[in-house]
Amino acid sequence: LLEALADQVALALERICLSEDLAQSRVTSETERLRSALLSSVSHDLRTPLVSILGAAEGLDQPGLGPQGRDILVETIREEGERLDRYIQNLLDMTRLGHGALRPNTVPTDLRELVGAARHRLRGPLRDNPVMVTIPEDMAPAHVDPILIEQVVVNILDNARKYAGPGTPIRISASTHGARATLAIEDEGPGLPPGASGHVFDMFWRVGQGDGGQGGTGLGLAICKGIVEAHGGAIRAEPVHADGRGTRIAIDLPLTNPELTH
Ligand code: ADP
Repeated sequence: LLEALADQVALALERICLSEDLAQSRVTSETERLRSALLSSVSHDLRTPLVSILGAAEGLDQPGLGPQGRDILVETIREEGERLDRYIQNLLDMTRLGHGALRPNTVPTDLRELVGAARHRLRGPLRDNPVMVTIPEDMAPAHVDPILIEQVVVNILDNARKYAGPGTPIRISASTHGARATLAIEDEGPGLPPGASGHVFDMFWRVGQGDGGQGGTGLGLAICKGIVEAHGGAIRAEPVHADGRGTRIAIDLPLTNPELTH
């Protein structure tokens, strides 16, 4: 099943690369570069969690495996399966963005609930990071597609964890400004190098190898930007502290027009 899925994803990616926008792009070698970067990062990123899942599944057959060992292997299978799921979701979003087919299904959305759902999806990877959420209880609902914006929050939280490291705190806050909500996610990691905040949302852009072995494609934030902009919103990256440390990713989103809900 997974192999079939990987094939389908590869096919979908081929299509994005051959889509009219890209076909009409000035430089064919750029299209070619994009296509091979996509295909190699997809194969690598699908394989990494799969190899862990298969390894853990084989481990379950070992004679003499105690209940504790079993629990660890089952947890690995669950976490790596979820990682695969997040990754595939990103690819599907990217396919739709590539076709201009990503149309948010906007409904009045409680951002506290949405953030709660995103944290729940990442409960395994985030177990070592204290997460502080400051969102007023009576905050007006945002006018967004909860599934897509949850995906954005998951991507940003996952980056905060990856690049700031275990044990470091993550702060999530939301506030309203006129007809807009701002949702911000801050970490206490090393921050982005000077000048990088203009590039982090570009496809395949990464800081050096960027990940200290974490693996990554440079697609996550490009997808976040595509999704947020499809809502008529905006996304930006900035340092948390004056000396450049810490990363804050802030998203502006439309609030539900109260006249429409009454
Ligand atoms: P990926 O994480 O798959 O590499 P992203 O598009 O999510 O791709 O991020 C692009 C790059 O931006 C990352 O490779 C990393 O170098 C940098 N980055 C993103 N989030 C953070 C963060 N919270 N702190 C430091 N660097 C970050």
